[in-house]
Amino acid sequence: MRLTFCPFSLGVFVGSAYLMTLKLRREEHEKALLSALPSCQVVFVLGGPGAGKGTQCQLLSERLPGWAHLSAGDLLRAERKKGGELGDLINEKIANGQLVPSEVTCKLIENAMEDAYKEHGIDKFLIDGFPRSIGNADAWKTTMSRHQEKLVLCFECPEEVLVGRLLERGKTSGRNDDTVEVIRKRFQTYRDEEGPIVALYEKEGKVRKIASDRSVEDIYKDTSLLIQNC
Ligand code: UDP
Ligand code: MG
Repeated sequence: MRLTFCPFSLGVFVGSAYLMTLKLRREEHEKALLSALPSCQVVFVLGGPGAGKGTQCQLLSERLPGWAHLSAGDLLRAERKKGGELGDLINEKIANGQLVPSEVTCKLIENAMEDAYKEHGIDKFLIDGFPRSIGNADAWKTTMSRHQEKLVLCFECPEEVLVGRLLERGKTSGRNDDTVEVIRKRFQTYRDEEGPIVALYEKEGKVRKIASDRSVEDIYKDTSLLIQNC
């Protein structure tokens, strides 16, 4: 068989290869853009252990389009499961009702935000159970300053009600910190740390207090309005 050189086919070949390269480059560029987390809106949800932060955030993320729920405690428990030195450190803190070092919690939250953005394009986050100390808030302000801290919701509920809820939850939660002894330590940590954080965000005009000794739907009505208007 005799091969003939056709300048036209060569042109078509080179042309399509060029277009293909351009397309790949564009796809790579789009992917890089999508993996770089933009400035996000965040709402911190605070309150004593058992105040209903998780329940409300779950509902809000199901009913308000665009908002995702990240629980600092859940992220820490997931990391603990992986074991190793970090897993041991997290377990030791949780089992004693103390706080995990701020950089660890901040990094886990950042990773989870990046994943949610890459997978679902989400850039609005309800962050439940963080910041829990001035150290947590400072670490966030240092490393995550490009995100917009929109609001700090504080769920307020009498301690006796909270203890009752936690003991009830402890029957089925499987959490090693839902025991009378650790619950007492968690409240101590909460009492020591919460005041200064609330004062810090009050200066910024971001705190909204919500009575959470009420029905789930009543609390939801108030929280969802605040978030929709933030
Ligand atoms: N924790 C922490 N930093 C956080 C959030 C949680 O160190 O920002 C640890 C802390 O030991 C806390 C435990 O995780 O007592 C459980 O937190 P979670 O928010 O799940 O408890 P909740 O307050 O919702 O009952
Ligand atoms: Mg919780």
